[in-house]
Amino acid sequence: MGERLEIVAADDAGIARAAAALADGQLVGMPTETVYGLACHAFDAAAAARVFEAKQRPSFDPLIVHVASSADAWALVGGAAENQSTLDERGLRVARVLAEAFWPGALTLVLPRPECVPGIVTSGLGTVGVRVPAHPVARGLIAALGEEVKKRGRGRADLPGAVAAPSANVFGGVSPTRAEHVAVPCALVLDGGPCATGLESTVVRPTPEGGVVVLRLGGVTLEQLGEVAGEANVTLAKPGEKLASPGMLERHYAPRTPLHLVSKLEQIDPGSLGGQRVGVLTLTGERGRGMGFAAAEVLSARGDLVEAAANLFAALHRLDAAGLDVVVAEAVPDEGLGRAINDRLRRAAG
Ligand code: AMP
Ligand code: MG
Repeated sequence: MGERLEIVAADDAGIARAAAALADGQLVGMPTETVYGLACHAFDAAAAARVFEAKQRPSFDPLIVHVASSADAWALVGGAAENQSTLDERGLRVARVLAEAFWPGALTLVLPRPECVPGIVTSGLGTVGVRVPAHPVARGLIAALGEEVKKRGRGRADLPGAVAAPSANVFGGVSPTRAEHVAVPCALVLDGGPCATGLESTVVRPTPEGGVVVLRLGGVTLEQLGEVAGEANVTLAKPGEKLASPGMLERHYAPRTPLHLVSKLEQIDPGSLGGQRVGVLTLTGERGRGMGFAAAEVLSARGDLVEAAANLFAALHRLDAAGLDVVVAEAVPDEGLGRAINDRLRRAAG
């Protein structure tokens, strides 16, 4: 973007400054354990409009609302959830079980939208994605915003602090997992260090029948959801449901350099790459050695998918900066977090 962003230490003073900026309607780069978010005050429609503009994000792609605790999440949507027929008692029960198991953490629950969340945040949907992040800086910032809004005598006394925050990258690009990756206009970026999870949240919709529809795979795995909600109750959204969750777009999370995804590196015919600067991304780095690649990124030398997830976007950022003609990525084992990693690689290959 060519703009120099101010990176601020996430101490009390930094958090207070960021909270004041949010209360003023400005945007703040916020660390979370998944990826860095571009946060705005969730109840401020004009600020939300600035998020869409800064990210060049299409207006049909809803923002996730982040709150500081489960209690705050239910304070936010409780009334709406209980009053609406879209999520009857059974759906609400599943939502509470999931929240209990995974919050704070990398799970977004799609719940009925309360009046206080402006329509622009949810792209006009009757639902809102809600998450309680685990990163202490995110929770500190959200709580501080709640205090700041009350101090200014604005907002409803019964509403918690809440920010709407998509990932802090230009729409469709690679998500930021370090403060330095953030490259969209904002007042400041709070530096919370590298993201521990490194993949976006898993987005699920509890159904009135007590099921769980997975709209986007992310930091919480299918296996973990199955353990908590019962394997038979958890289903992946069907391709036709894609637009129910725009994070499922075919091309997304993509570097600028063309990326090819292969299931095995041996599928590459070296002759077909002649003269090009080719980078490679693999899980352990054992494969591809000696194949003459111009750059190589290893996600986890010991083959640990959790470590690999945490490294994925930083590796894509580095490959993108390496002046390559093409990147070849090898799929990782399709289990646990590997499923979400492969999902991101597939969409990056678009
Ligand atoms: P991001 O914050 O950029 O990681 O993207 C948020 C993603 O969460 C969107 O692209 C959607 O896929 C999903 N999402 C957020 N809110 C909703 C909602 N109300 N209904 C369905 N999906 C949602
Ligand atoms: Mg995103």
